[in-house]
Amino acid sequence: MKCELISVGTELLVGDTLNTNVQFLSRELSLLGIRVYFHTTVGDNPKRLEEAIRIAFNRSDLIITTGGLGPTQDDLTKEVVADIFKRKLIQDEKTKEDLMEYFANREFTMTPNNLKQTLVPENAEILFNPCGTAPGILLKEQGRMIIMLPGPPREMTRVFEESVVPILKQDDNQLVISRYYNLSDIGESVAEDRLLDLIDTQVNPTIATYAKMGEVLIRITANGNDENEINALLDHYEAIMLSRFEEHIFTFSKESLQETVCKLLLEKNISLATAESCTGGLIASQLTEYPGISRVFGTGLVTYSNEAKINLLGVKKETLEKYGAVSFETATEMCENLQRVSKAMLSISVTGIAGPDGGMEEKPVGLVYIGVCFDGITNIYHYHFNGDRKIVQQKTANKVFHLIRKTIVDKN
Ligand code: AMP
Ligand code: MG
Repeated sequence: MKCELISVGTELLVGDTLNTNVQFLSRELSLLGIRVYFHTTVGDNPKRLEEAIRIAFNRSDLIITTGGLGPTQDDLTKEVVADIFKRKLIQDEKTKEDLMEYFANREFTMTPNNLKQTLVPENAEILFNPCGTAPGILLKEQGRMIIMLPGPPREMTRVFEESVVPILKQDDNQLVISRYYNLSDIGESVAEDRLLDLIDTQVNPTIATYAKMGEVLIRITANGNDENEINALLDHYEAIMLSRFEEHIFTFSKESLQETVCKLLLEKNISLATAESCTGGLIASQLTEYPGISRVFGTGLVTYSNEAKINLLGVKKETLEKYGAVSFETATEMCENLQRVSKAMLSISVTGIAGPDGGMEEKPVGLVYIGVCFDGITNIYHYHFNGDRKIVQQKTANKVFHLIRKTIVDKN
């Protein structure tokens, strides 16, 4: 099935809004085995929108538009589509009921222009929007499908996942199964290099890598008609993944390293404390993003100055004078003293030079010491990270999460 996406909205053309909808849809459609051949972005202009839809209709089997379904005057996607395919706009009673309920539940006042959203082209299928006022709309026309989705990403993704995916799956009785391998402590180019022989010859399954800072997600997708056959194919590739990446795989899902580590801490009931210098609380902040983490994470200190390291952590003045704040010795004292005051099972210390200033020949920008104290044993790791201040901080935080996981997994 050839698919084409049309994003509607002047805000996208002038650069006010980043077009995240196309990325989401392209990725999800390719997962379903649907080929996306074109992306078009067009402003809130009926003539140009009509042109874009006509062109798409001539070359694609499935057209998905996003945006322009709202209540205001500049929202005209369904009006233009109805006009092209000579369908009247009629009031849909169910949509009207849903809309009244939406407003009643939220105690919002419904303005008359909201009623515009209850108008749909005749003979259309309505795709319920659980978190907004504009439903999605599906039209079938001359063997093709036109699906209109609301613009706000939160609404678009819900309508897509809940209503569009089942329709597309039904329409194309191919089964598509994906497996994920999320890796840490490896660069995308190294990961890809180790996969080159498979990527170069890929047909079914297909292999894709996605890099985020500190993580490389590998997705392997196979399709076919028989679930067992697909899984056997994927098992073969899974064995290859394990042999090539085992020490790097932290989860068999899209879950982030931070989420995986928080889950692990909670699961094993391991209490954690952190004392951060150059990351300024970034690690604590990433930990506290995880709901329920308070059960194991109670102390997150930011000891930025020497005084704070002395007063709050009991780092010796002589240590700081003799070896400096960024040193093996300071990281050790920070970590071990933190363990004593916090009583946590696992304590982490971080001290480094994030830059851009403060680097010296023997201690360049990007030098970071990380202390990990677990079960009475302290390990100090040191790294030289490249990049600007923000990147050095982020890489340090990622490394800390990697080390927490490694420490716990190695111990068990
Ligand atoms: P609309 O349904 O066209 O009124 O869009 C409502 C809002 O959704 C816009 O103001 C944008 O903030 C957002 N939006 C629309 N299209 C996109 C898109 N392609 N990617 C990300 N956000 C979008
Ligand atoms: Mg708009």
